[in-house]
Amino acid sequence: MNKVILVLSDALRYDVAKNNMGFLGHLVETKQASLHKIVGELPSMSRPMYETIHTGMPSSEHGIVANSIVRLSAKPNVFQALKNAGKTTAAAAYYWYSELYNRAPYHPVDDKETDDERLNIQHGRFYTEDEYPDVELFASAAHLIRKFSPDYLLLHPMGMDYHGETFGADSKEYRNHAIYQDSKLAPLIMEWKERGYIVFVTGDHGINADGGHGGTMPEQRTVPFFVIQPSGRGRGETGEVISHLQIAPTILKLLNVPIPESMKYPPLSLD
Ligand SMILES: [Zn+2]
Repeated sequence: MNKVILVLSDALRYDVAKNNMGFLGHLVETKQASLHKIVGELPSMSRPMYETIHTGMPSSEHGIVANSIVRLSAKPNVFQALKNAGKTTAAAAYYWYSELYNRAPYHPVDDKETDDERLNIQHGRFYTEDEYPDVELFASAAHLIRKFSPDYLLLHPMGMDYHGETFGADSKEYRNHAIYQDSKLAPLIMEWKERGYIVFVTGDHGINADGGHGGTMPEQRTVPFFVIQPSGRGRGETGEVISHLQIAPTILKLLNVPIPESMKYPPLSLD
């Protein structure tokens, strides 16, 4: 049975990922991975895209149209569908994920570390500070994988967004952070492949030279979608443009869980 890890690197731009993430580039170059391009859904803001990626619905349909909307998801979503199917779910993610799928508003003490099979995100490790070090979050995710072998894990670091908003996307800090994330993910991806996980690496939105996102320009909405499979087989750089709306049905299909009618886009074929 398949298992899936989604690395959702906040504000990871397509061009910066392609040019600076050399381990992922190696897997693509040697056809051990596939790289697609996503022209992201709108608005290119975080909370709307977190919900879009996990419901497979555009923002005007799921209703989380702004970062300021603090409530549980009201639509069928990946975490809920998997939990209801008896699968094990986990996330190492920004606290807005806890608010969308576990409990809103977030309680920084009670909700920070969650191990509760009744919740949609059964094993959660959440953070509230944008500058929370990615490497600490990566360790939390890697620990959850070793301890619980979840069927689905979301790893959601904020480092690209933090450096992009602080220094602008046309900065050594933003670009160098892509190199940093790639180098820290490399050994983990090797381990997760060994453990039989399909790993996706993508972004919720891009970011522009002003450190802004939310708009419609390519630098604000174009993100990568890397596919790494335990078989080691990939298609290299495909040149294909796919949709954020395909991620949720793809995860459910891989885990053999029925796709809700609300997820209208077709799942990706990984072959
Ligand atoms: Zn974001």
